[in-house]
Amino acid sequence: MQILLVEDDISLAEGLQKGLRREGFTVNHVSNGADAIHAVDTNTPDIMTLDLGLPDLDGMDVLRRVRKKYPDLPVLLLTARDTLDDKVAGLDTGADDYLVKPFAMQELLARLRVLERRVSTTASSEIQIGDVCLDTATHRVVINGTNVELSRREYMLLKALMENAGRIQTRANLESRLYSWGEEVASNTIEVHIHNLRKKLVQDFIKTVRGVGYTVKK
Ligand code: CA
Repeated sequence: MQILLVEDDISLAEGLQKGLRREGFTVNHVSNGADAIHAVDTNTPDIMTLDLGLPDLDGMDVLRRVRKKYPDLPVLLLTARDTLDDKVAGLDTGADDYLVKPFAMQELLARLRVLERRVSTTASSEIQIGDVCLDTATHRVVINGTNVELSRREYMLLKALMENAGRIQTRANLESRLYSWGEEVASNTIEVHIHNLRKKLVQDFIKTVRGVGYTVKK
């Protein structure tokens, strides 16, 4: 899951990035409205968390402009404005949810999981495909009742594939889900992770679509 974090408070943004990455999200951060609009256009995230008080544009303007072009992009507003009017205006403008600062990381994560479930093909935090069960809330992967230890990237990769079961994921697509902008990614990185992941999963769970990418059957 790739999150675009729009936040001009740099220390808050750094803390959120750390916390979200620890939870297996890929996070890209921008600190103003113009960059946010550009980022959504060039590398559309799965979820956008949007601060309302930005240095250039008002967050509500960013929301309006993004919403026009991307009606289905989940947007979570993060803001210090805690009056009822602001909340109602934010939701009326098309935000999916609203979190008032200061908030607990646990609450942000819970709200993101709700949005995450909306964009994925599953309805609960558990995705079960064949003998493999992945829980996005606890980050546990269980095969036939046995816990499987995965590295963070392996988990993120498996999650991206299982959330999109039945759809082919290109290498570029998977890379953008595993790595943030500016992170060094070797050209065979995804292949290496897939190779390691396959050794830990049931045989043929991840299918290679030659010349295109990978898929997990529904
Ligand atoms: Ca702000």
